[in-house]
Amino acid sequence: MPVHPALWACLAVVLAVGALFTLPPLRRAILTRGIFAAYRKVLPQMSDTERDALEAGTVWWEGELFRGKPDWQKLHAYPVPKLTAEEQAFLDNECEEACRLVDDWQVTHELYDLPANAWRYIKERGFLGMIIPKKYGGLEFSAYAHSQVVTKLSTRSSALSVSVMVPNSLGPAELLLHYGTEEQKNHYLPRLAKGIEIPAFALTSPWAGSDAASIPDAGVVCKGVYQGKEVLGMRVSFDKRYITLAPLCTVFGLAFHLYDPEGLLGDKKHIGITCALVPYDHPGVDTGRRHFPLNAMFMNGPVRGTEVFMPLDFIIGGPAMAGQGWRMLMECLAAGRSISLPSSNTGMAQMTARAVGGYARVRSQFNMAVGKFEGVEEALTRIGAYTYLMDAVRKMTAGAVDLGEKPSVVSAIAKYHVTERARQVVNDGMDVIGGKGICLGPSNFLGRAYQQVPVAITVEGANILTRSLIIFGQGAIRCHPYLLPEMRAAQNPDARQGLIDFDRALFGHIGFTISNAWRAFRQGITGSHFVSVNTDVAPEMRRYYQQLTRFSAAFAFLSDVSLLVLGGSVKRREKLSARLGDILAQMYLISCTLKRYEAEGRQQADAPLAHWAIWDAMYKAQQAFDGVLANFPVRFIAALVKRVIFPWGHPYVVPSDAFGHQVAKSLLSPSATRDRLTAECFVPLHEEEPVGAIELALQATLAAEPIEAKIRAAEKAGRFANNPRANVRDIAQVAAELGVITAAEFEIMQRRTHLRDIVVRVDDFPFDFGVATANKPAPDRMAA
Ligand SMILES: Cc1cc2nc3c(=O)[nH]c(=O)nc-3n(C[C@H](O)[C@H](O)[C@H](O)COP(=O)(O)OP(=O)(O)OC[C@H]3O[C@@H](n4cnc5c(N)ncnc54)[C@H](O)[C@@H]3O)c2cc1C
Repeated sequence: MPVHPALWACLAVVLAVGALFTLPPLRRAILTRGIFAAYRKVLPQMSDTERDALEAGTVWWEGELFRGKPDWQKLHAYPVPKLTAEEQAFLDNECEEACRLVDDWQVTHELYDLPANAWRYIKERGFLGMIIPKKYGGLEFSAYAHSQVVTKLSTRSSALSVSVMVPNSLGPAELLLHYGTEEQKNHYLPRLAKGIEIPAFALTSPWAGSDAASIPDAGVVCKGVYQGKEVLGMRVSFDKRYITLAPLCTVFGLAFHLYDPEGLLGDKKHIGITCALVPYDHPGVDTGRRHFPLNAMFMNGPVRGTEVFMPLDFIIGGPAMAGQGWRMLMECLAAGRSISLPSSNTGMAQMTARAVGGYARVRSQFNMAVGKFEGVEEALTRIGAYTYLMDAVRKMTAGAVDLGEKPSVVSAIAKYHVTERARQVVNDGMDVIGGKGICLGPSNFLGRAYQQVPVAITVEGANILTRSLIIFGQGAIRCHPYLLPEMRAAQNPDARQGLIDFDRALFGHIGFTISNAWRAFRQGITGSHFVSVNTDVAPEMRRYYQQLTRFSAAFAFLSDVSLLVLGGSVKRREKLSARLGDILAQMYLISCTLKRYEAEGRQQADAPLAHWAIWDAMYKAQQAFDGVLANFPVRFIAALVKRVIFPWGHPYVVPSDAFGHQVAKSLLSPSATRDRLTAECFVPLHEEEPVGAIELALQATLAAEPIEAKIRAAEKAGRFANNPRANVRDIAQVAAELGVITAAEFEIMQRRTHLRDIVVRVDDFPFDFGVATANKPAPDRMAA
């Protein structure tokens, strides 16, 4: 039987394509050479600082999410971080005591600083040297323990937590540990560990905030006199601002561009960004003045100097490390960023969840606890579920650091998303407590957090920049299995080898994209019901693993299409790349939450918190997909991709109100769930302490509720009609007098009323706040 010519043609095409794929030399000659040449032309030139920033750190779990096929076994095999007995004791004793020594109102309104005994205590007990090894006298805590400490201190006072956090984050100790000379380490580390030296790190300048590599601060290599001898050194001029701990630091890390116009160190004229360690009292150095960052009383201020001569030995790592400063900073950034703000902001959320939840049960309006109104419930739901998720993220991310990772992308995700959720949690808390949050004073437990939330948003990579430029920008290049190899191949000066490597990466890339497109479509069309989850997981969470696998494939496919269509311009299309980053980030947050649920032994009572948080994050990821597709510049491609990844439309709607109700309910009374959710919260059980008073009032309110129900029933039956004393506050008194409740029940009601009075109280002050009473007459009320 004769074969149809069309069949011959098809066969020829299949053979030709097969030959191209299986015979690399042929493929390279016919296809790849042209693409390679074009790619080399369009690939944007990268500066050294951009390259250092992009290539810094390691790729961890986010790499799995980026590749479209997460290995769930791997997620659950990551060890759950645990405290040693010594670390646990430190948390139970030293941290509790440090919290006890600090009264936030006194700090923020009266002292404008931590009290002297608190400073003494945190220095002596090694709080400032948690990352310093024991051989130098430090505590040598794990990243997880460090995170636990910061979380706990943050539930008490931001000044306390920031003063502890900064010396343990990116700064002199961290840099010395990695790059210091033996002499520098032996001199500084024992002194930093015991708080004899207080460190700061000065990078930011008025002209260079987010774009820190462009600092104008500069030093010139020259000879000069130091300690009576002529030595080779640098004459450095600098003007830094926003430097935390600068007003009281004894030594600060200083970043500046170093130049060598006379060739005293070699033939490089611009040596590059250099980090030096400078004593605060070094001649010409000006520290001590202070900024006033939103009533947060951690020390923060400028550091200045003009033509300050310093020997080359001041350079961290000595002269050999001149010009390596940017690489050093980028390499060390991830560890601190993984811990500091995720922990401090989770602490703030834990405190909000505990205190606002309690307040919402104690505070009653329309004869009902305000927390039981559906409107308030919505806010409480976000507070509870976000706190659960934030805690999961900070623990898993600190755990990564303990595994030796320097997770640059994950640390950016954790920093951005935990601080943004903290902003939401604190805002919701403020709404729930109403005027109580607005009037500052010793009884206000949330107003300062509300004021200070923007600090976390701005520092360690301002949030808009982190979302728009870093999470996907760096994530795509670091996590994608083929993008970086393609870029490296294109930049290879040996063009022949470059072509071979490029060809290998390119065809791997094509196969990767096709397989992700097919997987996304297959999983979309079957609603991901047949996705296998390769490890034992809680049955009630299984669907999320399946859906997340599907989203991961869809994300990998959409990323590749975006990179193909937008190429290098993806960096400038920040709205699109931010949304792509949002998808990656939400998937990371969900992974952490699933990990937490397993790690804590699948606590059924906590399941609503996990469900709501995951559902919300899934929904947000879906919205981010929509945002990319709706604004994709090539419309027919967007339409095609949408058909592939959402063949039946959207799988997610908003999280359910039923779960939301369970979440809100868990904040309104004491329970194991509430304790797990707020495990690090410092709760001083005294009536004079605002958070402690709420805790006591909550217990008293619960004890009083059945008695109150009895009183209300009597009221409904008309027992108190026309008795003006039977008002909302004093009705129990009348009920006792009429025998509606017993004397013992009246006692319980009395205690509830006493504590509720304390909880709802706000502070008042003299009309001039006591500042100018002596010279200013009281206002004439009749004058207006
Ligand atoms: C209280 C406080 C403490 C600090 N502590 C220290 C310290 O100890 N040491 C230190 O060196 N520095 C410190 N900083 C500096 C801090 O880490 C930030 O780097 C700095 O505040 C950001 O610069 P900027 O405020 O001038 O904002 P700008 O850089 O002016 O940014 C303004 C806005 O533009 C956005 N933006 C900028 N570039 C982009 C972009 N490419 N894409 C999208 N958005 C962009 C930012 O996200 C921000 O929203 C501190 C800052 C504060 C406020």
